[in-house]
Amino acid sequence: MDINNYLHKPITGILTNYKKPLLFIVSLLLVSVSAPSWSDDDASLGVPGVRGGVVTTSEPNAARVGAEILRQGGNAIDAAAAVQFALNVVEPQSSGIGGGGFMLIYLAKEKKTLTIDSREKAPAAATADMFVPFVSSGGFGVASTSGIAVGVPGTLKGVELALKKWGTMTLAETLEPAIAMAEEGFRVGPRLAESTESSRLQNEPGNPAYDEARHIFRPGDAPLVEGQLLVQPDLAHTLRLIADQGTDVFYSGEIASAMVAAQQATRDSRPEGEGRMTLDDLANYQAVIREPVSGEYRGYTIKSMGPPSSGALTVLQILKLVERFPIGDEAEGFGFGATRTLNVMIEAMRLAFADRAVWMGDEDFVDVPKTGLLDDDYTALRSALISPDARQANVLPDDPRPFDVAMTAGKQKLAALTPALDKGVNTTHFSIVDRYGNMVSYTTTVESAWGTGLMVPGYGFLLNNELTDFNFIPAFNPDPGSFNPGANDVAPNKRPRSSMSPSMVFKGKKPLAAYGSPGGSTIIDSVVNVSMNLIDHRMDIQEAVDAPRIAQTSANGTVGREIGFSEQVMEELGTLGHSVRDPSEIGSVQAVIIDREGKTQYGAADRRRVGGIVSLKRDEVERRK
Ligand code: GLU
Repeated sequence: MDINNYLHKPITGILTNYKKPLLFIVSLLLVSVSAPSWSDDDASLGVPGVRGGVVTTSEPNAARVGAEILRQGGNAIDAAAAVQFALNVVEPQSSGIGGGGFMLIYLAKEKKTLTIDSREKAPAAATADMFVPFVSSGGFGVASTSGIAVGVPGTLKGVELALKKWGTMTLAETLEPAIAMAEEGFRVGPRLAESTESSRLQNEPGNPAYDEARHIFRPGDAPLVEGQLLVQPDLAHTLRLIADQGTDVFYSGEIASAMVAAQQATRDSRPEGEGRMTLDDLANYQAVIREPVSGEYRGYTIKSMGPPSSGALTVLQILKLVERFPIGDEAEGFGFGATRTLNVMIEAMRLAFADRAVWMGDEDFVDVPKTGLLDDDYTALRSALISPDARQANVLPDDPRPFDVAMTAGKQKLAALTPALDKGVNTTHFSIVDRYGNMVSYTTTVESAWGTGLMVPGYGFLLNNELTDFNFIPAFNPDPGSFNPGANDVAPNKRPRSSMSPSMVFKGKKPLAAYGSPGGSTIIDSVVNVSMNLIDHRMDIQEAVDAPRIAQTSANGTVGREIGFSEQVMEELGTLGHSVRDPSEIGSVQAVIIDREGKTQYGAADRRRVGGIVSLKRDEVERRK
């Protein structure tokens, strides 16, 4: 990927009224505002940033909706709500009210950072062995497209909680743009068109449970075409019901009953495939406000999502393991893309993913040794295993509990080290900064692209398959001498372990950037790559997002590399013993960044997907009464 091919130009003042059908050609928005690096001279300053707010998404229509909310005087939380609802309409394959997510919020006035956990939950009737029948027959493909994979959705509760606590608009107001786009239609972009070729929309022809989504996204059993007007009346009806009646209609009213019925569908008619979610599970669902997990890297503070996500802990552990190496120093044989740099990154990823497999899960159910995993002495011991010029033959997890003052005793069992699966392109991340300096970094998902492929009949939204993020085979080992409590085994009401890592970077108390990515377990690697590009390689934000990335998601598996690194370096990694493979797609990072004075704002969106950035000058933003 040649990072010099990209345009860098400001894109202010092209907002449209969201109440009209959005007919803009998508490529109009494939431009970005280039940001300064954080280097002392700020040599790349000169491209104008803005002070009225920036919205970056992987779907341009949604970015425009968010910016319109900011323009009307809404804050970043209002805009995030509207963007999430809009994404349900324009990027339905990746997120929506049938799924869940993690929102990281920075409140400028209070100088406080917190997270909203709206991760899906296992139903009360879930059991640790519920995916075992699919291991011998059907596998991930069948399990993940059957009702058994459906977690109790959290997105709507999460957005509602954020708005109630810190928004200035009502839920109904933030739903309006999405309702308009679902009702009047929008022009299908290239990525949505391509996604409708997915096999997930072609399961079980003739089975009404699977036909529902097919009829909308593959009319006449043909994929959607770029530029086609897509109207979604059922979804518009659902969003309007929620706007009129509040979230109860979703969690205990007519939509709840329809969801419970829809997740009875199975791919292969085995009763084991039927979903176990009940009306009680839906009525009991609550989103949770949690403290972010925070750590230092070369003088910057990085905050991200803690358990039930493995995101923050794994990202920060990788960064701590590489910190003792002079990553930015070409004279030392490091620097961007050098063999030593990449080898150190890969080795750190292997060590951190080994620990992740054993120690991370839903902290409401298992003890996660958070302090120990990021403890300086523990990470120094782990980092000492890394040599800049060699590959470790075999990487194992270690035991961080002695370094974890907060750790309680018990639940020590040995987990099987299964490589994290890279399940391809799904999920979405968006970032927002408003004129006040509030920021939102939000990763949101229905798990696989198109979730289970099950759409709630008459209501026009897809049900997630998030429960396949649990261990398929329980890892719990009753041997008292071993460790790990099956941290990610299924349990009633538990949240599956995630890799989602909505993140923010601070210098002291000053917020500098917000970013995150989709991409299954490669999310973690994408966030690490971009963090190092910003901090070690002093790239500007768009360069940091554009630059080729590497990913390793297990202790001993292969290394994914994108095109753009030197082929000689790739060969040298092979000589060290790494098995380097061609890239599957590695994430899609959407970022906002603020200059060191805390005033001028910039955005970057990832060209690996479509990417949309809209930025507002201060005088474009209306003051709210
Ligand atoms: N289900 C994934 C997770 O929570 C996100 C989906 C993806 O990007 O693959 O980690």
